Amino acid sequence: MFDELKEKEISYIDKIYDLIKDKNLTATVVTFGCQMNAKDSEKLLGVLEKSGYRIIENEEEADFVLFNTCTVRENANKRLYGRIGQLKNSCTLNKNKIVGICGCMMQERDEVDYVLEKYKHVKMIFGTHNIYDFPHLLYDILSSTYLDKENKKVIEVLAKTDVILENLPQLRKYPFKAGVNIMYGCDNFCSYCIVPYVRGRERSRDASDIIDEVEFLVRDGVKEVMLLGQNVNSYGNKLENSISFAKLLDKVSSIEGLSMVRFMTSHPKDFSDELIEVIKNNKKIARHIHLPLQSGSNKVLLDMNRKYTKEKYLELVNKIREGIKDVAISTDIIVGFPTETDEDFQETIDVINKAKFEQTFTFVYSKRTGTKASTLENVSTDAEIKNRFDKLLEVTKNVGEEQYKKNIGKVFTGLVEEKDIIDGYLTARLSNNALVHFQGEKSLIGKFVELELKESKGFYYNGSIKN
Ligand code: SF4
Repeated sequence: MFDELKEKEISYIDKIYDLIKDKNLTATVVTFGCQMNAKDSEKLLGVLEKSGYRIIENEEEADFVLFNTCTVRENANKRLYGRIGQLKNSCTLNKNKIVGICGCMMQERDEVDYVLEKYKHVKMIFGTHNIYDFPHLLYDILSSTYLDKENKKVIEVLAKTDVILENLPQLRKYPFKAGVNIMYGCDNFCSYCIVPYVRGRERSRDASDIIDEVEFLVRDGVKEVMLLGQNVNSYGNKLENSISFAKLLDKVSSIEGLSMVRFMTSHPKDFSDELIEVIKNNKKIARHIHLPLQSGSNKVLLDMNRKYTKEKYLELVNKIREGIKDVAISTDIIVGFPTETDEDFQETIDVINKAKFEQTFTFVYSKRTGTKASTLENVSTDAEIKNRFDKLLEVTKNVGEEQYKKNIGKVFTGLVEEKDIIDGYLTARLSNNALVHFQGEKSLIGKFVELELKESKGFYYNGSIKN
C-alpha cells in the first residue's frame, strides 16, 4: 500500500539533494513532547540527512530549523514561542534561513493563526497528518528560496489522514535501540486530552509491516525495540486481519537477534490477561509496564472518561505483580482536574500507597481548549492544588524509593546506553526500566552487561559490573 506515494516522496529527496548539494547547508530538529514525537523527529532528521543537510544541534547556526511540537500541556506552547522568537535575529542575518513548525500544536487552527501573525520569520508549517509529505513540502520551500527567490511560505495542515507511510529514511538517536510505531491516533477521548483531536482516530499498521521493520532494524544492529502507540492495548482492533496486541508482542519478541522489547503506552481498561501471560512467558519482553492512573477517585475517573474504577485499576496492578516476577510499574497522575476535591485527592494517595509504583510522573491539570474538561468549572483554588501537588511529590518519592531499595544487592542485566556525566562512568537501563550508573569502558555502549545494584538514589542506582 502507498507504494506510489513513497516513490514520489523519495523522488523529492533526490530533487532536494540536487538542489542543495553544493551549498553546505546545516539543519536541526527541536523536539517537544512524547516518545511518538521523538520517533517522528528521527524520521524528519532522516529525510534531512538523506537530502544532503549536515545535522547539527545549534538552532541559531542551522540553515533549516524545524520545531516538532507538543500541545498536551499549555507550558509547552509557551516554551516553543520563546525559542521561535529568539531565532528572529539569526533569520535577519541569514536571509535563506528557514524556520518551520510541525507536530500536534499545528493541528490547532488558533495556534497556526497566532504563529502567522506574530512570527513572520516562520516559513513552513505542517501538521501530524501530513508528516509523510515532508520531502515534498521541504522541496517546495527550498525551491522558492533558492530557485524562484520568492519569499514564499509553505503552510499545509490536513484535518485527517488515512495514510500510513513508513520506511522513509530515519536517523536513529541510538544505533542499538529504536522505536517502532505500531499504531497512530487514539479513540478514547479522555475528557482532558487533546490527542484524539490532533493525532486523529486510531489506525493500526499491519502486523507483517511491523515485523518486517523490526527484522530490518535487527539486521541493522538494533537489540532493543520499543513498540509505540497512544494506546497499544487496542492495537489491531480495526484491522481486517485483526490480531491482539499480545499476539503482536509475542511475534515481535520471537524475532531472532532481538534481545529486548518494550512498549508504551498501555490504557488500563484494555490491559488483557492474555497480555500478562505473554509477558510472563517471555523474558525478552521488558519487566516494565507504564500504566497511567491519572486519578484514584472514581468520581474524577468518570469525569475524565477513563472507563475504569479505582478498584479495577488496583485489581489489574495485583494481577500484573502476581503474574510477572520482578515487574516495575510506572504511572502518570494529574492533580487539579476541575472536579477534584481534597477527598478525591486522598483516594489518589490511597491508590499510590497500595499500587506501590516504582516511578510516577506527576502533572498539574492543564486546560486544553476544545476538550470536554475545558468546559468544567474548577472546584479548587490554585493554593489547594499546589498543596496537593507538593503532597503528591512527597508520597510518590517515598513509595518509589521504598520499591527501589528492594533490589539492592541483586544482579540484573542492563543495556548500556551512554556515557554518564561523570568521566569513566556509563549508564545502563535494566529490563524494569531502572537506570544504573557504573564504572566502565566506553566500548560497552550498546552491549548488555550484568550489574550488581549497590545503592539506590531514588530514581536510579549506583552499581558495578558483576565479574
Ligand atoms: S488514551 Fe486518553 S490520555 Fe491517552 S492519548 Fe488517548 S485520549 Fe489521550
